[in-house]
Amino acid sequence: MGKLTIVFFSLIMIFSCKDKVGDSAGSQQEIISNKDYAANLDNGKGILNNTHSPHVKLRSIDMGDCKWTEGFWADKFKITEEKMIPYMRTLLTGETGHALNNFKIAAGLKEGEHKGMHWHDGDFYKFMEAAMYVYAQNGDEKLLKELDEYIDIIGKAQEEDGYLQTQIQLRDNLSRYENRKYHEMYNSGHLMTSACIHYRITGQTNFLDIAVKHADLLYSLFMTDDERYGRFGFNQTQIMGLVEMYRTTKDKRYLELAEQFINNRGKYEVAETPETKGYPIGDMVQERTPLRESDEAVGHAVLALYYYAGAADVYAETGEQALIDALDKLWMNVTLKKMYVTGAVGQTHYGASTNRDKIEEGFIDEYMMPNMTAYNETCANITNSMFSYRLLGVHGESKYADIMEKVLYNSALSGINIEGDRYYYANPLRVIHGSRDYEKMNTEFPTRQAYLDCFCCPPNLVRTIAQASGWAYSLADNGVAVNLYGGNVLETKLLDGSKIKLTQETKYPWDGAVKITIEESKEAPFDMLLRIPDWAEGSTLAINGRDTGVSVVPGEFAKVNRAWKKGDVIQLNMPMDVNFVEGNDRIEEVRNQVAIQRGPIVYCVESADLPKDASILDVYIKGDPTKLKAAYQPNFLGGVTSLTGEVLLRKEDDKKGSMYNKMQKPDWKSYRTTFVPYFAWSNRNGGEEGEMTVFLPVVW
Ligand SMILES: [Zn+2]
Repeated sequence: MGKLTIVFFSLIMIFSCKDKVGDSAGSQQEIISNKDYAANLDNGKGILNNTHSPHVKLRSIDMGDCKWTEGFWADKFKITEEKMIPYMRTLLTGETGHALNNFKIAAGLKEGEHKGMHWHDGDFYKFMEAAMYVYAQNGDEKLLKELDEYIDIIGKAQEEDGYLQTQIQLRDNLSRYENRKYHEMYNSGHLMTSACIHYRITGQTNFLDIAVKHADLLYSLFMTDDERYGRFGFNQTQIMGLVEMYRTTKDKRYLELAEQFINNRGKYEVAETPETKGYPIGDMVQERTPLRESDEAVGHAVLALYYYAGAADVYAETGEQALIDALDKLWMNVTLKKMYVTGAVGQTHYGASTNRDKIEEGFIDEYMMPNMTAYNETCANITNSMFSYRLLGVHGESKYADIMEKVLYNSALSGINIEGDRYYYANPLRVIHGSRDYEKMNTEFPTRQAYLDCFCCPPNLVRTIAQASGWAYSLADNGVAVNLYGGNVLETKLLDGSKIKLTQETKYPWDGAVKITIEESKEAPFDMLLRIPDWAEGSTLAINGRDTGVSVVPGEFAKVNRAWKKGDVIQLNMPMDVNFVEGNDRIEEVRNQVAIQRGPIVYCVESADLPKDASILDVYIKGDPTKLKAAYQPNFLGGVTSLTGEVLLRKEDDKKGSMYNKMQKPDWKSYRTTFVPYFAWSNRNGGEEGEMTVFLPVVW
């Protein structure tokens, strides 16, 4: 072979390996294996490796470049490190969770059978990802070693041609890709994402090797026109995973395949086939309308938002106008017409779409926002913030980070208790004794649970908390955007390669004062973009004690361009008034009710703060938010600012139990109560069911 030929081959680094796939499917596609991919890897280390993405305005910082130092997120990170990860490890690597066991059995290292949901492999990859983010912060070598052990087992479980799905491999009666309900795509997506993150954080390719082999198999099957595979894109984390695979390996086939999964939605007749049997079809899985023609978020909320988030990743690479136009419409539809005040999404457990398709755990009509029966799966809320994080990058507008923050502080954190070892799957805004028959429900519980058989939410939440420092800042063309506030140190490089170091000191979200000190930076001018949250009216911004003259507008980034020097101090002050928030007139469920918000935190009132005989439905609030007093309590619920104030309690005997009753003038009793952050509810009942409401009726 001549020298040129060798160069040519090493350049394309793609050759055929004669593996055959599609055992039950009958067809025999050739797998094009990217075996020499390691020579061509990208060295970006962002959560999204969008450093070179052509259609991105704000790019991810490298993982580990921002470290929490004090305050809210530093505390949450510490709990993640010390409790959430170790506790979850015990669950998933032991008999309760059985997730690692599934891989061991598939690897021939253990006897036994598959246990857990079809998506259990994916949930284990998410747990691994969470551990990776912790490693990126603390450099604990034990975590790395542990991950290597898991990867070794996972590698042994993988089949020769790259297939890796223990829920299928361990069940004799199931074959590959016979029915989309077995969640193979979901597991594949988390495998690829987790492997990319592992490579970026460690520089090792042991996990990535597995993912490449797997992605090559997916390409060989799903890039074909085989109709049986056409509708497989389902709970589509594989789109995000494939785009990260493309960004990591620069192999364009992965991007091509990611796009194929988008193009296939809405292309086929919505009718039951052997591949769709046993799970709702149509809007439920976003297959009735092609994405580029969609303007309404439909179906299962987690499925929808993973899909939209993946499509935003594809747009970041392709810049296709029709795609981003649709995604913008969908984001507006979600956040302006289908989202709760907590950032939660997925209004119902059971319902229908406007096309009359059956919907589970998902979106229903615009402005139809039940409180008690709201589903609001922790995953859906998190996915809402993941979609927003991607659009923040694409558009560079702060309104997307407002949603990320709203979700993080409210409907994400409500999924876990203060100690870090109990989980909620559904996150309704009101809970009342006796209103729900929990016996009949599989994912709604009166209290947070030590383990959930359907374990998608817990590792999703733990990885989100663990990676929040990576969301806190983005890199702009010539500067840094501050997306999230919290005590931290940022040590990174601007896109021109110059070093920058900042410290951020703040007691946010309990206090609105943020002090950012420039510790090191280049001499030439660059931008500091400071997110002014949409609720933060009256915020002020000063540099070295002087007003900057730049416009400070809630819902936008305040942009300060100057030649920064060591010791420069940025002071942002966001007023932390207590506000009442009312719903749009079209939300019937909250007419003449208000939610209480202070800064980004949404409050609630719960049984623990009411007289024993009072129901949450007896509580009415007086129409003046300024009468509520805020006080930080370091030893309460992990350290929170609670609100105290007077409410009116309506006597139980004023009400009768019929469907409709003649009403008497209520006999009010004044009561002084405490309001706690919504995320911290149900932490004081000692395992007993309590009542809670976010929205309260107002007495003017
Ligand atoms: Zn979930």
